[in-house]
Amino acid sequence: MTTPTPDGIAKTVSQLDLDGHDLPPSPAPSTPSNGRSKYALATELVYTESGDQYNSSSMPIYQSATFKGGPGQEYDYSRSGNPTRTHLERHLAKIMNANRALVVSSGMGACDVITRILKPGDEVVTGDDLYGGTNRLLTYMKDNGGIIVKHVDTTKLDRVKAALSDKTAMVLLETPTNPLIKIVDIAGIATAAHEANPNAVVSVDNTMMSPYLQNPLDLGADVTYESGTKYLSGHHDVMAGVIGVNSAALGDKFYFMINSTGCGLAPFDSWLLLRGIKTLAVRMEKQQANAMAIAQFLETHGFKVRYPGLKSHSQYALHWSQARGAGAVLSFETGSIALSERIVESTKLFGISVSFGCVNSLISMPCRMSHASIDPATRKERALPEDIIRLCVGIEDLTDLIDDLSQALVRAGAVTLTSEGFVAKETESEETGTTTQVVDEP
Ligand SMILES: *Cc1c(COP(=O)(O)O)cnc(C)c1O
Repeated sequence: MTTPTPDGIAKTVSQLDLDGHDLPPSPAPSTPSNGRSKYALATELVYTESGDQYNSSSMPIYQSATFKGGPGQEYDYSRSGNPTRTHLERHLAKIMNANRALVVSSGMGACDVITRILKPGDEVVTGDDLYGGTNRLLTYMKDNGGIIVKHVDTTKLDRVKAALSDKTAMVLLETPTNPLIKIVDIAGIATAAHEANPNAVVSVDNTMMSPYLQNPLDLGADVTYESGTKYLSGHHDVMAGVIGVNSAALGDKFYFMINSTGCGLAPFDSWLLLRGIKTLAVRMEKQQANAMAIAQFLETHGFKVRYPGLKSHSQYALHWSQARGAGAVLSFETGSIALSERIVESTKLFGISVSFGCVNSLISMPCRMSHASIDPATRKERALPEDIIRLCVGIEDLTDLIDDLSQALVRAGAVTLTSEGFVAKETESEETGTTTQVVDEP
């Protein structure tokens, strides 16, 4: 604008920080009275020093797009920075063992921010069993952005090594994968990637574990990100994505993208996520205890169960070398698509829904729902069994959950109830008509 302005205002406008909002130091200090630098994670989750002017116990929602004032003030425009969002980011940085955390409007938004640092010709090495949305975004970038994407079986370190080179700009990992629950060696791959190219950015999608159970940055990753829609929020009432880094340069690049594209998490959603995070430890403990009992129940009754809490998981040792728990997502096979469909339709407490991480238990058939956007030939190539059922276990009473599952197994004809209890499943080979509702990848 060319209208003459008084000196003071001109000075103010020239100093407004529209490119790089000066964030307060992160992580925010917590000051345990016992002299340690940090409290245990379960304490850090609930404890915050907000510095609020009225000592509010809950961080206020600064539902304001703009902030008045002149030079030197912390906030001017909520796309660039908002106190509620900053508080969440500082809180998350501590929990994610990161020097800096950033929050955006969804998990896919986080993936978009991270992959925007790629340039045409850059190579990405990633898994062959990725979250559908990640797969879709990478495919778009390959087709439209000149990015070379190499999908390999990331459970095999030698295959990953063979795909790595000095052209590898990014390695994108997910562990455990979903719904095949395959484990990927984060530390091994991070070392190999940095040997191939010291500038390669190793990014880990930590959604299945959450920072309560796994910290990829401590294992050598450069970026950890996850969908806050899942365990971090825990109630399926908000969408969010979080990114954690130790490198200040990477943090600045991601912040630049968030400020440029305007995908920073809104104040109210930041507040909802802050509230959800406070109960992460209790929810996760209860959810994984329930999941473990259900996994054992299904395994005992003859189903092929995939869950890293079970000793029968072929990568049990690897998983426990990098994570503190098994999480609350498991999958099992029944031997028949029709039988799986009948089971999924017969549960009541386990609601049919995509997604996971909620306090409620969910059941789904990935090939019909979350992974329906992957064509059948690719699903076959990736050995994704069409009859696989995924359970995302919530915090309900365990006996009620097992009863619900038991009656569904009986009604579906997967097991029969005798005086001795359940007897092993009958296998069915005919694939009858599909009745499960097809829900596309969100
Ligand atoms: C849900 C999910 C995402 C995407 O997160 P949104 O918040 O739904 O955008 C990414 N990765 C994994 C592993 C997920 O489960």
